[in-house]
Amino acid sequence: MAENNQNDLVSKITSLCKRRGIIFQNSEIYGGVQGFYDYGPIGSQMKLNWKNNWWQENVVKRKDVVGIDGSIITHPRVWEASGHVKNFADIMVECKKCHKRYRPDLLEDPSKCPDCSGQFTEGRKYNILFETEIGVIEGEKLHAYLRGEACQTIYLDFKNVVDSTRVKIPFGIAQIGKAFRNEITPKNFLYRTREFEQWDIQYFVHPNDMDKWFEYWKENRINWYKSLFNNSKNLRFRQHESDELAFYAKKAFDIEYQAPWGWAEMEGIHWRSDYDLTQHSKFSGQDLSYTDPVTHEKYLPWITETSGGVDRSFFFLLLDAYQEEATKSGETRVFLKINPKIAAYKMAVIPLAANKPDLIAKAESIYQDLNKKYSVDWDDSSNIGKKYRRQDEIGTPWCLVVDFQTLEDDTVSIRDRDTMEQIRLKSDEIDSWLQIQLNK
Ligand code: ATP
Repeated sequence: MAENNQNDLVSKITSLCKRRGIIFQNSEIYGGVQGFYDYGPIGSQMKLNWKNNWWQENVVKRKDVVGIDGSIITHPRVWEASGHVKNFADIMVECKKCHKRYRPDLLEDPSKCPDCSGQFTEGRKYNILFETEIGVIEGEKLHAYLRGEACQTIYLDFKNVVDSTRVKIPFGIAQIGKAFRNEITPKNFLYRTREFEQWDIQYFVHPNDMDKWFEYWKENRINWYKSLFNNSKNLRFRQHESDELAFYAKKAFDIEYQAPWGWAEMEGIHWRSDYDLTQHSKFSGQDLSYTDPVTHEKYLPWITETSGGVDRSFFFLLLDAYQEEATKSGETRVFLKINPKIAAYKMAVIPLAANKPDLIAKAESIYQDLNKKYSVDWDDSSNIGKKYRRQDEIGTPWCLVVDFQTLEDDTVSIRDRDTMEQIRLKSDEIDSWLQIQLNK
């Protein structure tokens, strides 16, 4: 697609999200605040499915990974140990005329203000950790931070997890949780926000096995994304150049998505060696080493980290799913070709006529049955065309219609979101049919 069309896509998705209750600008009635979003009735269910799928694959289905859910505010020393207090900063310039601030590395022409062509000041460093205070008594308040990355909590809990569970190296600790960054230029909808969720796995290994596990997680993570995106060609690795690497990292890769504005990072696979546990040992004075129960070797484990953005990747998933096609009647049909596992509703149950008690009763009983196992929508609002249109736009993979034939032979019509083809199923076959579709 040409660049204009591509950028158009972000605004199309943004307005679809608002129109259909997927994502709203936060505090919109007050004019909104840049970089904060709310998930609506449809989006919150989709995001939950997105996170649940990650959790199922990486925690529930694995013997070697356990989960935690850590707190957002930590002891402030954590962020000194991690280096964030000193280094978590972006360079900014200010326009001398209109006083707007920009990150020069994100400007097309960093020599003048894009708004008023004014001259810029020299660059200054701004720390992007959100600051807060713990306690209420003046003079006794503890200056603290909202976590700038979720993974630090995993290092903090490392010793507790080892002492309280039966994990043995190699093993991972996984977490999904909020992170906060006072980004100077939030932009591109969910791509760069100030409050977002991350999913992290910190996989602890013996230093000799580091290469093997790094390669393992790199492949594992891209394959997971590929299994849920329609177009794998829009996913790739980008290896970090040597000047981008932290001093302790032998290598690093980003999983990138081909966004409308170019290839963009979605998740990082990082070689962290024993850096984090060393730092926290030093700053806390605690011994964070691990003793092998068989060989009795005592060492600081090395870490392969996979750290991705839940909201950012969800946005990319929406970009991947958005489809427009011309219908026979010359209209444009919009549908979200989103994986049924992630769709908010697996099915919409629709009685064909709202004023026929027999139809409504039958549809209602099908709905109640399905509802026990699946997230299903009930839609008896307006005409069938409008119902399909709504379900297409929120990505419901199948619409189940109870019509007059249902009352005669107990079959229902199932319409497919992507092909619009319809099949008929006996009402007692729906559950097993749906089960098969969802396990594909
Ligand atoms: P970027 O270079 O885009 O700022 P980063 O390299 O600082 O990202 P990490 O610190 O590695 O990102 O964080 C891991 C993941 O968290 C990123 O791959 C991204 O998906 C997500 N993420 C980071 N910053 C933001 C943000 N401001 N808004 C939404 N998601 C973010």
